Amino acid sequence: MTRIDDGIHMKGGVITERDSTRCSVRTRIPGGVIGTQQLQGIVAIAERYGQEWIHLTTRQTIEIPHIDPSRLDQLAADLSANGTPIGSERDEVVNITACPGSERCKFATIDTLSLARALDVKLFGKEMPVKIRIAISGCPNACTSPLLSEIGVIGRNTPERTPGICTGCGTCVEYCKEGAIKIWNGISVLNPDLCVQCGSCIHSCPFGSLSSAGGHFLITVGGRRGRHPRLGRELINVATADEVVAVVERVVGWVYRRAWSGRLLCEQLDDLKFDEFKTDIAGAVQDVSPI
Ligand code: SF4
Ligand code: SF4
Ligand code: SF4
Repeated sequence: MTRIDDGIHMKGGVITERDSTRCSVRTRIPGGVIGTQQLQGIVAIAERYGQEWIHLTTRQTIEIPHIDPSRLDQLAADLSANGTPIGSERDEVVNITACPGSERCKFATIDTLSLARALDVKLFGKEMPVKIRIAISGCPNACTSPLLSEIGVIGRNTPERTPGICTGCGTCVEYCKEGAIKIWNGISVLNPDLCVQCGSCIHSCPFGSLSSAGGHFLITVGGRRGRHPRLGRELINVATADEVVAVVERVVGWVYRRAWSGRLLCEQLDDLKFDEFKTDIAGAVQDVSPI
């Protein structure tokens, strides 16, 4: 019987199955975007090493089940040559998920897929004391559940009204699903406590009274799904994708240096002095506004 206990078998993307003589192999596919040629390549690899099916995972990767561990080295070489190398699943930075964002979705305020690729290049597979899931959503609809991930990124867009133009027609009130806009004394008034900064109202005004006060990225830390779900805490708003990458790198470095293994990140945020970190990072990143 082949043992699954060392070498390539210990890579995070190699997962021992119920039948411990077989393993599933998870791939690295940032944002879940894969070329058609690469997909055909994975199909061919699955047929060569596994069975005639694959598994699409919740983290937008593809798993190839029922691999004989003695063939892992050759499988890994074939996956790398296909541009879809072995992925990650242990206490590491695992596959980065992203919604379609501005590449396709009409609600998006940010380019999620480019951001996923940029973060993947910097951080994918880094060994950590705890598992780090990074999820990116192009708007507050949050289709990739960023608030339930250790690190979440959400695109947002804040509306502002140009004085002197509003007719009080109420069109923007109809657009806002949050009840954040009211007509008061003949003009629209925004309640910032109710506004989730989705930006949907901005293009609704037939008189051009509404515009963007600036698209930005909200970064959250410490969410998790699973047995006891927790929402991530708001860390910072930043204005650019480069700043997102810089902040997320700092978060990962902070967790790497200070977190304990064996405990979920959400359970140790206070012990890690999250509030101090939040203050420090607001001072360290240029052109950002602390929440
Ligand atoms: S999170 Fe927003 S931008 Fe992303 S797919 Fe959902 S609705 Fe579209
Ligand atoms: S940005 Fe979204 S939540 Fe805020 S007022 Fe406009 S439609 Fe409503
Ligand atoms: S849609 Fe434009 S003009 Fe109408 S109430 Fe809203 S801001 Fe004013």
